[in-house]
Amino acid sequence: MKRETITHCPYCSLNCGLKLVTEGSVVTGYAPWKQSPFSSGGLCAKGVSAWQQTHHRDRLLAPLVRRGDDFVEVGWDEALDVAADGFLRIRRRHGAAANAVLTGASLTNEKAYLVGKFARLALSTPHVDPNGRLCMSSAGAAAVQAFGMDRAMTPLTDVVDAEAIVVIGANLPDAYPLFMPHLQRARRRGARVAVVDPRGGTLVRDGDLHLALRPGTDAALAAGLLRELDVLGLVDAVFVADRTIGYEAARHAAEAWTLARTAEATGVPGERISALARLLGRSSRALLLHARGAEQQVTGTANVLAWINLTLAAGHAGRPGSGIMTLTGQRNGQGAREHGQRCDQLPGYRRVDDPEDRAVVAARWGVEPERLPGRGLTYVEILHAARRGDIRGALVISTNPAVSGPNSAAVRGGLDALDHLVVIDPFFSETCAHASVVLPGSTFAEDEGTITTTDGRVVRVDQAVPPQAVRGDLDVIRGLAHRLGAREHFDFHTGRDVFEELCRVSEGGPADYSGLDWEALRRRGGVFWPAPRDRPEGTPRLHLDRFAHPDGRAHFTPVDPTGPAVTPDADYPLVLATGRHRDQYLSGNQTRRIPDLTRRAPEPVVEVHPDTAVAAGLVVGARVLVASRQGSVELAWKQNTALRTDTLFVPYHWPGINDLTSDVLDPVSGIAGVKHTPVSLTPAVAVRPAVAEAATAG
Ligand code: SF4
Repeated sequence: MKRETITHCPYCSLNCGLKLVTEGSVVTGYAPWKQSPFSSGGLCAKGVSAWQQTHHRDRLLAPLVRRGDDFVEVGWDEALDVAADGFLRIRRRHGAAANAVLTGASLTNEKAYLVGKFARLALSTPHVDPNGRLCMSSAGAAAVQAFGMDRAMTPLTDVVDAEAIVVIGANLPDAYPLFMPHLQRARRRGARVAVVDPRGGTLVRDGDLHLALRPGTDAALAAGLLRELDVLGLVDAVFVADRTIGYEAARHAAEAWTLARTAEATGVPGERISALARLLGRSSRALLLHARGAEQQVTGTANVLAWINLTLAAGHAGRPGSGIMTLTGQRNGQGAREHGQRCDQLPGYRRVDDPEDRAVVAARWGVEPERLPGRGLTYVEILHAARRGDIRGALVISTNPAVSGPNSAAVRGGLDALDHLVVIDPFFSETCAHASVVLPGSTFAEDEGTITTTDGRVVRVDQAVPPQAVRGDLDVIRGLAHRLGAREHFDFHTGRDVFEELCRVSEGGPADYSGLDWEALRRRGGVFWPAPRDRPEGTPRLHLDRFAHPDGRAHFTPVDPTGPAVTPDADYPLVLATGRHRDQYLSGNQTRRIPDLTRRAPEPVVEVHPDTAVAAGLVVGARVLVASRQGSVELAWKQNTALRTDTLFVPYHWPGINDLTSDVLDPVSGIAGVKHTPVSLTPAVAVRPAVAEAATAG
């Protein structure tokens, strides 16, 4: 008999709802879920084909243990014994901090919570960090600094009521396809759209304002805009006086960024900068949406703070229909950074270095505060420590650093240097090839739990079929924890059990889920946190009366636009930005196996402006060599007239792309600057350039 189970797409952070159709324990297809918040039943090609993951012929269905250069299938008990024994051995010989956990922002809230608890109470290591560190950490750090809280200030649906929409380094058609109908609706209602991106493409329509800034100059552009707003007399003085602190210092820091200097530094004509300042200053409701373009830089946190300064000066925060927010990348990019799987954080978005926060969480977990390790290393720092031999063992779940880690040749060196590597994944990823033990993971159809959408709405995902490999991820984590001597702290049976514990532990923290109810989540189609016990209906709009800082005000931050640490030179004269393709997801470990998606996007193709192609002597149909200080890769290429001539773009969902990128980090957020890699571009083989043809390459 056919059955339908409501869940949400496992890919991007819009979390479009859908129904999985099952017959017995087999997923046979999907059906639209028209009541789905935001997407109303719509799905992109990734969402439509997501159900095909579950019974894919590449699924790992039995644990694997390494024997020499090979892996052999073993039973679950043996695999969990070997996995746990390796961690225990390392702990005995080198101390608990020689083990680490690398985790993912696609996990449900429940798994994210459990993985953090597992690191602290089962492995007793401070080193646990998610791959969200590489995506949204600059945005999170800046939001906490400016507003006292890291959550979108308004539901994304508010975009249709905005008069001005500024999209900053967010490739909406590729990264968030189901956002586009909302943007179109806003345009039809008269909204003016501004796009701040070195790459234009299909996002930019007639009548939009496109500011094609030079990569690495976000903070300079935002500083110039702030100054221009001030010069034009369009600063919202009442809002600034009543709701903020620090404006004068921020304005002073931006003082040197005259229109002429900003235009020179950013490559954006002065009249466009002035036009955007006027648009923001004269609109009564404006929404600024930023994503990886501004954030994935070694100055990512400063970039976001500079955009926040501009937003505050124009008075577009703490009002319905206005605001500035990040669009998180991964499925649970928001929730996975709230529940304690970050190296600096405990559940409920509490701080691991705050004595009061530690005491609360320790009491709710039934341990002494001293039992909780302190602050650990971030994601990339863990990989660096592995290379040095300081980290000897690692558990990797829902992340594929061998492909997605910056400077991935060095990442692979770190993975190989480990004495013990345990990977939990539904498919044999490139990281699995370095493992001692591979444990089959769950796909979204086998999960029960919750996800938090990019705008802070907690939604429920239901299990459509039992885990194909018999044990699901929660069961695997529990099995490992029991073997590591932490049985009493991992006593649960279902995703709902963990959800209820998570809500209890979060009570009173910045991300308070304590008023959430499992049944009500389904009834209401989701609830925006904070949802404390006395406000179970949640909080769709934040900061309407006061910001989350103790003084109730938003904080300006003086930003000195320093630009990237490494700049193009004669050897590497161009800048490479990596990003998303509409039909692939993250390292491609799931989507590169789906036939319809590989037909649409079979390989990475580097985008080159036609003038740049001619200058580099590229040949139509031939491959090119892109090289950086870190490595080189041969690629197909195509022209993109909507790209700056000094910039290349390539989607990152395939092995080899991150061989090019650098692992130098933003000192505040720990993000790597993958949006700004100096590179060279040459034909891959020595052939006679067909210059005339280059301009017609498609
Ligand atoms: Fe929706 Fe994103 Fe999934 Fe596409 S990938 S269906 S836009 S959640």
